[in-house]
Amino acid sequence: MKDKTMLVHFSEEDSKQNHGAVVPPIYQNSLFVYEDWDAIDQAFDDPVNNFLYTRGKNPSVSLVEEKLAKLAHGEKAKLFASGMGAISAAILHFVKANDHIVTVSNVYGPTNNFIKHYLKEKCNIDSTYVSGKRIEEFEQAIQPNTTLIYLESPSSALFSLQDVEAVVQLAKQRGIHTVIDNTWASPIFQKPLDLGVDLEVHSCSKYIGGHSDVVAGVVIGKTEDIDQLFLHEAALLGAKMSPFESWLILRSLRTLKIRMKEHQENALQVAQYLESHPKVSKVHYPGLPSFDQYQLGQKQMSGYSGLFAFELRTEDVLEIKKFVNSLSYFKIGVSWGGHESLVYVPAISYLKELTPQQFKEMGISLGTVRLSIGLEDAEDLIADLDQALGDL
Ligand SMILES: *Cc1c(COP(=O)(O)O)cnc(C)c1O
Repeated sequence: MKDKTMLVHFSEEDSKQNHGAVVPPIYQNSLFVYEDWDAIDQAFDDPVNNFLYTRGKNPSVSLVEEKLAKLAHGEKAKLFASGMGAISAAILHFVKANDHIVTVSNVYGPTNNFIKHYLKEKCNIDSTYVSGKRIEEFEQAIQPNTTLIYLESPSSALFSLQDVEAVVQLAKQRGIHTVIDNTWASPIFQKPLDLGVDLEVHSCSKYIGGHSDVVAGVVIGKTEDIDQLFLHEAALLGAKMSPFESWLILRSLRTLKIRMKEHQENALQVAQYLESHPKVSKVHYPGLPSFDQYQLGQKQMSGYSGLFAFELRTEDVLEIKKFVNSLSYFKIGVSWGGHESLVYVPAISYLKELTPQQFKEMGISLGTVRLSIGLEDAEDLIADLDQALGDL
């Protein structure tokens, strides 16, 4: 079964049990009752695979987990209440007090906070940050107590890539585990588990949900890891996924592949338009042949999603503000990956804490604008950008 067919049919054969309902019902219940003492006694012997209580396992949630595992070529998946619920669980699964983590400098902000500050303060876990562009950086960063390499490819802000296969090979030689945040590419365009990564995490709030109405996360990997994660990080920290939101994701998965194709086509057209515009100095989109790691992207991804950044030539904050405010289809907001196009400017939040000079020292120009390209017609999006750039 190909991905598109699987996302429509897989694991949904028992509609007879549901009176023939073409869409599986939502199991909106907290607990499951058993026939008698022996029946529940037996279920307790295998809590990972039995329906006892919805903090553990629920049929609406399990169905989506099965589909996501299959899509990512993993053995099993565990859904969480948010991407951060999934990310913190995956990291905690592989580390203990006094360990060391290697990760990339442009990792998603809250992931960075979790590793750099929370784990350091609570568990004395140290971390080393690398750009991730060269394998030697990882080699040099590894210490005797390194137990985890945490990847995000493409990463946040400027979308730089890591050579996943090479990092996995290095990690395996040293007995180090690997986790990758695969939210940007989605499991449609990148299959890191095929390259040997131990665990793959996603914020399902982005493309997997795709309609800006769900906050959720998932961890996918081998049965052994996911079962341990189920019993510990999921059951004990309790960031459980709700049956209703799982059901919304089930709906979203049916169109994931066709949505990703559309996001990709739209994003490429918009990126090409911006690249040729005189008021734009640079476009950071892994799908453009001019992207500095384009070859690596071609090697490890089968497509590109709709989130990217570009730099306006102007560094005048008032001008940048005018540009953003004069867009009409691109709404201003955080998050991305939904049906609607969005614009966000990193300077909005960074300038609260940093001076423009400090901001520039981070390697991100003041005029950096992030776009999430939605499912509108690319022609309308380009016309909108064109009128806003024309006013600069
Ligand atoms: C949004 C995001 C997350 C966090 O997901 P939430 O569902 O918001 O908790 C993690 N990684 C990346 C790359 C993201 O963009």
